[in-house]
Parts: sequence; C-alpha cells; structure tokens
Amino acid sequence: MPGYEVIGNLEKKYLNEIFTKSGGVLFRHGFEKLRKNIFRVKKFEKGFGKHFNSKYSHSTTSGTAALRIALASLGIGKGDEVITQCFTFVATVEAIIESGATPVCTEIDKSLNMCPKDLIKKINSKTKAIIVVHMLGVAADLEKIKKICNKKNIFIIEDTAWGIGAKIRKNYLGTIGDVGTFSFDHAKTLTTGEGGMIVYKRKKMYNKGLAWHDHGHENNPKFPRYEDTRKSSGFNFRMSELQAAVGLAQLKKFNKIFQTHQKNKKKISNAIKKIDYLELREKPKNSTDASEALVIIFKNSKLAKFYSKKLKMNGINTKILPEALTWHFAKYWSHMRELKKRQKLTFNTSHNILKRCVSLPIMYKMEKQIPIKIYKILSSKMK
Ligand SMILES: *Cc1c(COP(=O)(O)O)cnc(C)c1O
Repeated sequence: MPGYEVIGNLEKKYLNEIFTKSGGVLFRHGFEKLRKNIFRVKKFEKGFGKHFNSKYSHSTTSGTAALRIALASLGIGKGDEVITQCFTFVATVEAIIESGATPVCTEIDKSLNMCPKDLIKKINSKTKAIIVVHMLGVAADLEKIKKICNKKNIFIIEDTAWGIGAKIRKNYLGTIGDVGTFSFDHAKTLTTGEGGMIVYKRKKMYNKGLAWHDHGHENNPKFPRYEDTRKSSGFNFRMSELQAAVGLAQLKKFNKIFQTHQKNKKKISNAIKKIDYLELREKPKNSTDASEALVIIFKNSKLAKFYSKKLKMNGINTKILPEALTWHFAKYWSHMRELKKRQKLTFNTSHNILKRCVSLPIMYKMEKQIPIKIYKILSSKMK
C-alpha cells in the first residue's frame, strides 16, 4: 500500500532543503534569486514525465483536481455527457459534475473495470469523453475501449489513481488515452500527502490544462507574471514546493515499492489460489498490475461475507471491498442529483459481482507469515 509506508529521511532532507537552500520559497513560480533557481514542482513534473514516459505532464493539488483539469483541457462542459464506470471513487463522478457536464455510469464486468459492451449502449450524440478507471491497480480493457471511442470520436481520460507504474504492453497506464490522471493522496502508491499529476498525449491539451490550473496564466516568457497573457479563465489547482519535495523523494523509491508490491501480491495469490470456492481477479492479457490490492471473488456473497468477517477478526484488513463499497459504487450515490437525474442507480450486474468480492491491501512491509495466515483463514470451513 504505499508511499506512506516508506516516508523517511529522504523526504525530510528534501523538505529541509527548501529552507536551507532556497530561502523557504514554497511557490511554483518566480523568486529565482531567493530560491537559487531551484524549482521543485517543475523538477518533479519533469522527473515524473521521464519515469512514466510522458512528454507532457504537470502536477496539481489532488487526483480529483487532476480529473477536473483533464476535462477542462478537452473543452468539456455544459451540454456534454461524460461516461465513467459505476465502480470507482466518488471523485471521478464529482469531477464530471464540477465541469458542468452530465455524468453517466456503465456497469463493470468481471474485470471490475468498465464493461465495453455496456459502454457501447451508453454512448449517444452528447457523449464527448469517457473516464476509464484502472480500479485497484488492474488495467481496464483499453484496447477494446479505445476501438469503440476512436470510432465515435470520443476522448479517453484514464483515471490512473490506482494504476501508477502498471502497463499494457509497453505503455504505462495513463499514457494510452488522450489524458491520464494520477493521485498522490496518502493512501496511494506514491504520496505527497495531497497531490496529483496529469499526463497529456498532445501539446495543445497540455497547454490548455496547464493554463487552466493556474487561472489561465500562459506563463508567456515575454512578460512578467503580473502582465502574463491569457485566453481563458481557469482556477487555482497549483502544487506547492512542499508537496513536490516529498514527491521527488518518493519518485526515487518508486521502483522498489512497485517491485515489492508485485512480489508480495504473488506470495499471497500463490498461497490461496487453489481454494476451490474462490477465484482471483484476472487482469487483461499483456498487462501488468500495480499490485495495490488482491481481489478475491467468491462463489457467492454468503462466502464473501463470512470470510471477510473472519479476516478482520484475525487482524487482516480488507480494502474498499467490502467495507468501503458505499464510497466506491454508484448504486449508493443518490446524494448526487446530477447522476440520479440521468439514470437509475440500480447496476444489478455490477452489484452481483461486487457483493462476492473481498479485496486485500498489498503492503510494502509485509510480515513473512501473512500469506500462510491468510491461507489458513480462507481455507477453514465455513460455519
Ligand atoms: C484516490 C482516487 C481519486 C482522487 O484522488 P485524490 O488525490 O484523493 O483527490 C480519484 N479516483 C480514484 C479512482 C481514486 O482512487
């Protein structure tokens, strides 16, 4: 699970340097002399782009803001429809509502990600974009989804909050669609406390997103900031130097975190895969998995309920499934008027899958006996 498990001396060192080397400048722009020309936010963006193979990336204050900016960069707003999936975090739908567009949710399939068949059914002439979510670190079936969207001229935003570092073939998740968004909140693989990143395929959208996240500032080098040029209004979603300092440290640790997650997940799945009343969530062919969580799909919901309770009683936590489903499943979002207005919040197909699921968080610091302990709990007879 994550970045927060490895926060340590490097983060402290980089934070301190803001004060010892750069006069305490916390802003992404200006103060060149005082900061000795060290721009941490920009350095973090560059480092992130290099690591995850994106030519155009900029940071922001949260993963939710990243989604909102992504929609702005594509010119999406009132009168448009944006399709996402019913199993995601509320933030995905909130960003669509904030943009003025109407949110629409598809069912998920057994991959726990967007069901391509249902996507086709939900597309109409108002559909301008989709936000596909790589839920819990496993890639959505982007190859299929891309074909559908290309045919209809629909933009693809990848909500990569869980999928950082994972790939389909040789391409990092987030860089396959038109725009990809990342979250660095405290529960995510790479954390800056609060924060996010947006990666763009095209320069035009990058420029638009970058300006929009900074009140419309174009950062025109011909003018000082207070006389800067602008083409549209925007908002303030700028990352601070404090977040970027932590991000730079975390980025250095990322490969080790990612590899350790993969190893630890494999140890648990190997231990339990032969139990015959459960199966493990599959990932699309040719993809890697961020290994943030291991989702177990039981034969029926009774088994799922029994074993999730038993895991908890033995000190093994679950993650999102089942305990935080209400925050991650649109069936329960009757508080979102904009969503409710457009469609019935039933999602029976998805519910039938989700209520059979239990998800285990994969920890970086996993005690050695955990896989066998989980095996013992899950293979014990149901009473
Ligand atoms: C965490 C998360 C977000 C939001 O990120 P924040 O940085 O917390 O705003 C968006 N989408 C998904 C799927 C998430 O899990």
